[in-house]
Amino acid sequence: MGTELGKYKVCVSARSTDKEIMGKAQDGGIVTQLFAFALEKGIIDGAIVAGPGARPWQPRPFIATTREELLSARGTKYNISPQVSWLKEATRSFGMDKVGIVGTPCQMQAVRKAQLYPVGMRDVPDKVALAVGIFCMENFPYKSIQMIVEDHAGTKLQATKKMEIGKGKFTVITERGASVALPLKVTHKYEQPGCHVCLDYVANLGDISTGSVGSPDGWSTVFIRTKKGEETWNKAIAAGCFETKPIEQVKPGLELVTKLANEKISKNKKTVEERATFGVNKALRNPYL
Ligand code: FAD
Ligand code: SF4
Repeated sequence: MGTELGKYKVCVSARSTDKEIMGKAQDGGIVTQLFAFALEKGIIDGAIVAGPGARPWQPRPFIATTREELLSARGTKYNISPQVSWLKEATRSFGMDKVGIVGTPCQMQAVRKAQLYPVGMRDVPDKVALAVGIFCMENFPYKSIQMIVEDHAGTKLQATKKMEIGKGKFTVITERGASVALPLKVTHKYEQPGCHVCLDYVANLGDISTGSVGSPDGWSTVFIRTKKGEETWNKAIAAGCFETKPIEQVKPGLELVTKLANEKISKNKKTVEERATFGVNKALRNPYL
């Protein structure tokens, strides 16, 4: 196996058995179910999630300390939610000893950096109790989401029930049930430029990472990566929180996850190399050269 999927102990296809969570989950409700279970069992004191913000579909990170608050954050918001900015807040202002956090692969990298080199993050290293990474091919600025939904899909952000990226389309689903599927070639130009040098698709540094790709609709692909992740996952399974299937038994399975991870990495490596020709990434890679 290559390194594109990161290290993991087990990979399964799964979905939550909780109908309320599934009612508004993006995929298999893995993130919300895991945190709800961890909160109930005292594995975490709270979780940094991306809840509703000031404008429709603009996420706002906050620390959920109840099941209701966790449920209010369900669903993917395709723009930046500065999750890590709340890590210090959680340990200091909220005095939490066991913090959960969900984030994109780059945010998982930031969490691990904060733990390894806690400059300005003195209270953080031993207090990250569960880091859940979500797969990520690209992200968008908020203005771009407005343009994609309102100008290209011809619908209103306020009237949007769900957005999803999959099967080569950016799909906008309205509260009244209409759906507009845009080819990704329409949305490419709106992606954050920073995402074009990102070399992680499946959140290699999460305790557990999850995304829709590889699993059937309404299910999620889940990588259990660390000892901490495995302990929580096994307890959640024993409590009946998830229905699971071996990843080898679902279609399209890990083959598609691997293909997309490789495509992201090789495309973005080219951008890194191009940028190095005018010095940008060279400086980023090693500031002392
Ligand atoms: P739910 O139980 O619905 O909970 C979702 C959780 O994600 C919530 O806790 C919420 O706080 C958090 N969240 C929502 N938006 C953000 C955000 N912007 N930043 C950080 N946390 C957030 N999956 C793929 O398989 N392939 C992809 O290419 C892919 N690209 C993605 C790109 C972006 C920008 C994002 C945010 C997610 C992407 N995902 C991708 C992940 C996927 O859309 C789901 O978020 C994931 O499968 C979790 O679904 P769930 O049903 O388990 O989560
Ligand atoms: Fe972060 Fe990479 Fe996703 Fe962009 S593509 S949001 S840099 S994980």
